[in-house]
Amino acid sequence: MIVRNLQHVRDRITTACFAAGRNPATVRLLAVSKTFPSEAVMDAASDGQRAFGENYITEGVEKILALNVNGAAAVLSPLEWHCIGPVQSNKTRLVAENFDWVQSVDRLKIAQRLSEQRPSGLPPLHICLQVNLDGGANKSGVPASEVLALAKEVAQLPGLVLRGLMSIPEPAADFVAACAVHQRTKDLFDAINASGELPARMDTLSMGMTADLEAAIHSGSTMVRVGTAIFGVR
Ligand SMILES: *Cc1c(COP(=O)(O)O)cnc(C)c1O
Repeated sequence: MIVRNLQHVRDRITTACFAAGRNPATVRLLAVSKTFPSEAVMDAASDGQRAFGENYITEGVEKILALNVNGAAAVLSPLEWHCIGPVQSNKTRLVAENFDWVQSVDRLKIAQRLSEQRPSGLPPLHICLQVNLDGGANKSGVPASEVLALAKEVAQLPGLVLRGLMSIPEPAADFVAACAVHQRTKDLFDAINASGELPARMDTLSMGMTADLEAAIHSGSTMVRVGTAIFGVR
């Protein structure tokens, strides 16, 4: 089931890329495995899926450790783990010690703790700043006017490498409306890169989920985060 679902999602990504005149190799698939057991991750990994996303820190770390001991990592090439949920200060150490990416950074204080707590034997933690461009009031994410300033600070932190931006827009009415919101994120991403104020260009624009991955790819997403279409309804 998971393998068939994965194939279907890969087909959707390829079709969306062709429709947008893009090379499918420019869009990565992050499989969002939150609430599903490590066996489900193993199934996807056995079909070549490498990158997995988790929202809840303790649940994610349990899976990472279980798979390191039992399985996938030993047999297959190493998995890559992305934290995509809110990170409280008291969880930064767990995140810094176990994940490869954090896509949900929206405060300098959290970034500083992640940098300080990243073990020196590991490569820097890959970071995306979570942005909030549609003004969802009770949602996390940096408002557009503050993204460049935070990006400049994060890019200086030694334990981190700034890779890009991540967005979770409110559900849109249709394809055109979804594209409009994603396009604002893409425009901000391009503007920050063009500003020349970062030491290195960002290369990751993480947007698009099960419902809106076509619109996100149309608007320039380089990483779609898909849960339901791969693992089923939560
Ligand atoms: C749950 C989640 C996803 C996956 O959503 P689906 O609609 O199940 O594909 C992607 N990104 C984030 C941040 C999530 O929390």
